Order: sequence, then C-alpha cells, then structure tokens
Amino acid sequence: MNKPAIAMTKIPVVHTPEPIATTPAKINLLGMSQTELADYFKTIGEKPFRASQVMKWIYQHGVTDFALMTNLSKSLRDKLLEKACVVAPEVVHKEYSDDGTRKWVFKVAGGSLVETVLIPADDSKVDGRKTLCISSQVGCALDCSFCSTGKQGFERDLSASEIIGQLWVANASYMEGVDSQDWHNNVTNVVMMGMGEPLLNYEPVVASMSLMLSDHAYGLSKRRVTLSTSGVVPKMYDLYKDIDVALAISLHAPNDKLRNELVPINKKYPLEQLMAAARAYVYDNNPRHKKHVTIEYVMLAGVNDSDEQAHELVQLLGDLPCKINLIPFNPFPHAPYGRSSNNRIHAFSNILNNAGFVCTIRQTRGDDIDAACGQLVGQVADRTRRSAKWQESVKARLATASDSV
Ligand code: SAH
Ligand code: SF4
Repeated sequence: MNKPAIAMTKIPVVHTPEPIATTPAKINLLGMSQTELADYFKTIGEKPFRASQVMKWIYQHGVTDFALMTNLSKSLRDKLLEKACVVAPEVVHKEYSDDGTRKWVFKVAGGSLVETVLIPADDSKVDGRKTLCISSQVGCALDCSFCSTGKQGFERDLSASEIIGQLWVANASYMEGVDSQDWHNNVTNVVMMGMGEPLLNYEPVVASMSLMLSDHAYGLSKRRVTLSTSGVVPKMYDLYKDIDVALAISLHAPNDKLRNELVPINKKYPLEQLMAAARAYVYDNNPRHKKHVTIEYVMLAGVNDSDEQAHELVQLLGDLPCKINLIPFNPFPHAPYGRSSNNRIHAFSNILNNAGFVCTIRQTRGDDIDAACGQLVGQVADRTRRSAKWQESVKARLATASDSV
C-alpha cells in the first residue's frame, strides 16, 4: 500500500467544553437511556418528558452544566445541580493528525486507560464521513490468538457513560468555543471495534447504541452504527430483538478446526450455531429481509489465506446475505502470525468475488497510524505503568478499525 505519511501534530491545549465535576453522591446522567432518565425524573418528582429535554441539551448541544439548560424550570435546575452530574471519562491525552485522524486516551474509573480513534473518510470516499471506533471493555476475556487485546486478558467492563462518553468527547472536540445553539455533531459513523467484546458487556453497549440512534440524542442512522462480535451466539439473538444496528461477525476461519484455534469462543459456539445466528439476524423472522451482515476475516499468512480456504469460505457462507471485509493482519511483537502478502489477499478476494460475494480489502492507514499511535500510547502508558502488551493491543485495535464496515 502506498500511503502518504501522516504527520501527527500535537495541538496546543485549547478550551474543550469540560464536563462538570462529579462527586460520589451525584448520579451521572450521561449514558442513561431515555427510559432510565424518565424513571429518574419520576423518582425526583418530575415529569418524564424532562428526559428528552435533558438528552437534547447533553447530546445535541454539548451542555453538561444544568444551570445552562434554560428550558428547565429554575427549581429543576437547582435540584439537578444538587443531585446529578454529566461526566464523560477523563481525557488524559489527545492527539490530532494533519489528515484529520483524532485520538483520545481516556482514564476510566479505577484508573484503567482506554483509547478511542476517529478516522475521517479519505478523499475518494463519501465526503464528510467520520468514523469513531469505540471500546466496550478494558481488555478482553476471549483470547483470540491473533489479537493483542485478547493476550492482555480481561480487566473490566465499561459503563454506559464511559462508552457513550467516548462519542460525546469526540463530537465536543469539533465544537470548542462554539455556542450551544450552534453546536452540531460531526461523527457520522460508529463502530464498536475498539477494545473488548461488546456482546459480553451487553446492557451498557445496547444502552449506548440506543443513544446513538435516538432522535433526542445523536440520531445516527442504524446503518451507521456497527457492532462487531467474535460470535457470542445467544446474545446475537437478543441483539436483533433489542436494537436494530449493523452487525459485523469476526469469522476469520472457514472451518471449526481452524476457528477453534484462532477464535476460542468457537469451541463453545461452533460455526453451525454462529451461521444460524447470523441468518436469524439478517432475516429477523422476515423472509423478505432488508439486512446483511459484514463478515470480517483477518488475513494471516499461511494460516487461513489459501485458495482452498477461500473456496471453503464460499461454501460456508452459502447464500447468507453478507459482504466480506478482508483485514490485513496487524502484527504486534511476539505475535505468532504474519500478514498475508497483497498478492495473496487479492487472490483470496478474487475467489470470493467470482463466487458472487461483495468483498473489500480493508485499506487501513494503519501503518502510519500505528507508528503515531504507538508513540501516543507509549507516552501515556509510561506515565501510568501500563504494560507493553496493553500498548500493543491498542495499536492493533486501531489499525483494524481505520475503515468503517
Ligand atoms: N471483540 C470484537 C470487536 C473488537 S475486535 C470482535 O472480535 O469482533 C475488532 C476487529 O479487529 C475484529 O474483527 C478482530 O478480529 C480484529 N482484529 C483483532 N486483532 C487484530 C489484528 N492483530 N490484526 C487485524 N485485525 C485484528
Ligand atoms: Fe476479544 Fe475481539 Fe480481540 Fe477476540 S478479537 S480477543 S473477541 S477484542
């Protein structure tokens, strides 16, 4: 891939609308679904419709100070100032590149660090698209053999406020110094492809995605919010009942023997079950389905990238309505794999195309981002005594997410 080098420029600290300070006694309204918020207002003796008013202030006007929410009565504002807060996770580092890529390192409750990246579309793509890659957990328990987050192990789930807070901060970064009435949100797409397995942190992830879709919050179209899963089958069935978003499945192998090695959760939910869940998601009990899923397939040299395996994949997918996204492996130190050559990836892709599948190769700007991102995370990690593994894991997450599905 011939890619221009990305110059990472540190932006001098500028004014960001800061969330107001929290105290343990105050309840954080950030991340509450409309229903939760309406219930909360009832408990403090207020009408439930206040929920949509407050949501608009927080998510559409970037206002976190209740005193500025001028369509609320003075007594309600005072009550909220006393009892509640709106607090996004703390940004401990931010870096904006000249090509428009932005990254934040958040310190979440308990001191763990999580990184979020925003990637703008390149010129050749839809103008104005900005995709945010969001984390759902610190670390991951599923231990996929090619994934450095997995190697790090599981630390903890993120709360809904820590998940939606990543989007809030990303949008706020474009609105520094802008009045609340002129505020508009810039992030156009969200992919749950950062650290963690989103379906293993189900409720906070669904609550956050419901805010992404809600007309009172971000109002993103359901095609622009994508959840990626390694195949937590029972939760895939729950998902299509609970929320309508795009689904990406991290397949990575065309048979159980290899997938057991690469994606160990396959031993619990083998391919037959996974494919049945994918079909159920697409058809949603409606034979005249409108959906498709994205199949993610990381290209590991000599492991899962042969012509035979491409044909096997064609057989496995059959008539599943899907598009396939081939992801060049992003290596990390001590990784037991290498990245497939470009020729191999194209040969693999051609077989899928010839069988009638739409197949794209994820053209990451990952190499450049990696270098910059590694430095960024390294600086923060040194200060916080994070492990080298952690740094590598964040790098891998970001490089694979630099193109939205
Ligand atoms: N846990 C979820 C979402 C986060 S991972 C999942 O597994 O789907 C997001 C994507 O990055 C997944 O498709 C994952 O398989 C892929 N990935 C992980 N490590 C990678 C690496 N080193 N190189 C390329 N892709 C990787
Ligand atoms: Fe977890 Fe996804 Fe990494 Fe597997 S690929 S270890 S599920 S983050």
